[in-house]
Amino acid sequence: MAEPAHTRTGKYRLVATEEAFATEEQFEGYRRLQKSLWNDPDLELWKIVFEKVHTIRDRCLDLDRERLEIMDANGVDMHVLSLTSPGVQQFDADTAMALAADANDQLAEAVKRHPTRFAGLASFAPQDPAGAAKEIDRAINKLGLHGLIVNSHTNGEYLDQHKFWPIFEAAVACNAAVYIHPRNPPAVVAEFLRAEVNLWNAIWGFQQETGLHAMRLIVSGIFDEFPKLKIVLGHMGEALPYWRYRMNFMYRVASGIYNTSGTGRPPLKRQPSEYLQDNFLITTSGMNDHAVLKYCDEVLGADNIMYAIDYPWQGTEEAVQFINSAPLPAASMEKITHLNAERFFHIGTAAAATGDK
Ligand code: MN
Repeated sequence: MAEPAHTRTGKYRLVATEEAFATEEQFEGYRRLQKSLWNDPDLELWKIVFEKVHTIRDRCLDLDRERLEIMDANGVDMHVLSLTSPGVQQFDADTAMALAADANDQLAEAVKRHPTRFAGLASFAPQDPAGAAKEIDRAINKLGLHGLIVNSHTNGEYLDQHKFWPIFEAAVACNAAVYIHPRNPPAVVAEFLRAEVNLWNAIWGFQQETGLHAMRLIVSGIFDEFPKLKIVLGHMGEALPYWRYRMNFMYRVASGIYNTSGTGRPPLKRQPSEYLQDNFLITTSGMNDHAVLKYCDEVLGADNIMYAIDYPWQGTEEAVQFINSAPLPAASMEKITHLNAERFFHIGTAAAATGDK
């Protein structure tokens, strides 16, 4: 189905890679949980959204009308959609499995309705690693979705634990990159982020939580086990690029201590920052900062950076202006604005899909 062309405001095709959607069933589930889970920082955020920020609620649920209008008005070619955080991860395993499968079905339908405008990252339930591996296979190979999304911890557990490794096995087998999207830290940690302005959520807690998750994966040796595994981090890499010297220096110190204390953990084959370089891509989501973009381009290179807006949580207009005025050479910009996303998420170009561009 050919769709009307939109007006591009900048010179680059824009594929935005961290764009949220929700299902009614997911929101119903959050409302149910809100009655029983009192001390959950993610559900607290959603309570505020449901009561006071209806624009976010409505824009998450919309996969056709206003979303496409906003994309068209700002010259955004494509949203790579993913179920909004924390996805299905605070439900019991059976509920989570059912909600993820249903969300993936709805996502695949939306991509089918708008094949040149949407791609999709599939959800899965880490609560059931074997079931998650099956759903990953179904979502990528049957539904044709383009990658995977997970929202950091699940009930306070992180994916470096050995029981979760079937998830990465499936991801590698399906050649699917895993986007680790933020959520709030577990409640016990979030307590320490209460401040004059609460420092959980995206002001600080998200980055702390997701950066921790990425560091746990790096030091676990998972990338020695799965050298082809690709992890995507939003928000310019959740501060990891900035930390690369110290993660290497301190890993050398720490692994020396562990080796002599005889824990039996084999040391990593490479320096931590080498995994960051080879096994991670970062996106610009919610970080409309040219200085940080230039820094990340310098230390990671344009092959490792993808554009993202973080719709509907952050504004499209500002994010588009940010990328269209970014002070990088055109060859780097082509990679960042669309080529890397098309490659890592296996997205056909609009021209290939419709022949009309
Ligand atoms: Mn986001």
